[in-house]
Amino acid sequence: MGGWWPDRLYLELLSLFLLCLAFLAIGRWCQYPAGPKVAAYSLLRTWQREREMRRTAGWPSLSGEHFTLRYQPGTDPRMAQLVLQTAESYYQPVKDYLGGAAPETIPLVVYRNRESLGAGFGWGAEESAMGVYWAGVIRILSPSDWIAARRPEEVAAVFRREGPIVHELAHLWVDYRAAGNYPRWLTEGLAQQVERAVTGYVFPPAAAEAEGKWFPLADLDRDFDNLGDQALAYRQSLLLLDYLCQEYGAAAPEALLEALGRGRTLNQAVRDVTGKTVAALEAGFRTWAAYAAVHREVAAARDEGSGRYRIGRQNPKEAVEDVITRPTGTL
Ligand SMILES: [Zn+2]
Repeated sequence: MGGWWPDRLYLELLSLFLLCLAFLAIGRWCQYPAGPKVAAYSLLRTWQREREMRRTAGWPSLSGEHFTLRYQPGTDPRMAQLVLQTAESYYQPVKDYLGGAAPETIPLVVYRNRESLGAGFGWGAEESAMGVYWAGVIRILSPSDWIAARRPEEVAAVFRREGPIVHELAHLWVDYRAAGNYPRWLTEGLAQQVERAVTGYVFPPAAAEAEGKWFPLADLDRDFDNLGDQALAYRQSLLLLDYLCQEYGAAAPEALLEALGRGRTLNQAVRDVTGKTVAALEAGFRTWAAYAAVHREVAAARDEGSGRYRIGRQNPKEAVEDVITRPTGTL
């Protein structure tokens, strides 16, 4: 990059910072304390998205109705085509589930291997993510990197069933609806609910959940990626959303997103939707989860007799189609 580039970057960041400060001063006294965060985030996301588009400007591309796709040179073009087709076919189901609007054209960037996918995030090849949503862009690992099958129809079937498209698209949707103003457990829980509804995929239960060893909600929000038990972090997020829907109705998550997108804080949004504080919601979840765990044990004991129950297999189809075990890494 030329010498002008860093200067311009700093100027843009400085303007953003000053804008945030001005908004903060106003926001303190208004009904939407997170309003400045929401406004600044939308700007920052656009800036990050454009930066990614400039970085991949020379890459081969494909266009669909709702997505534009770029793929890293060296990626099998048939894999790029499969990613685009799969994304297009899941667009409407995700939209129907989450409601509201996403950007008119969604950028997809396909990477040929894990090293390249993780490079932009400082991850090594050991990172197990197959897809990442970040700042308006969905990045996807080429299906040929993780699917062992070779016949095209088999690869397509595995990618549709176990690939990360629906999960990442749901993250993008949540990000736009709540304008960046949401806790991590909310987006991880919603993404898993959408996956379960659209593809039937469910992350396997975590061992610790049977013992009720839940993370504090604050840790789940602040430090999600560094929590030791990632399987539990993902499962707890899903169960939190299940609890929210069961206790306050299926429209509760959408109402939360809407309130957060207007700039309400999490505490305010939770109070608007449930009439409770976040702390009371968390306590309610723990009671509900303990009750649900007892019921699962009873059901397991009953099903064991008939030989139908398989430990660690939440999704029955995984028991017979164990083509690939999807990692529960960062998604
Ligand atoms: Zn995720």
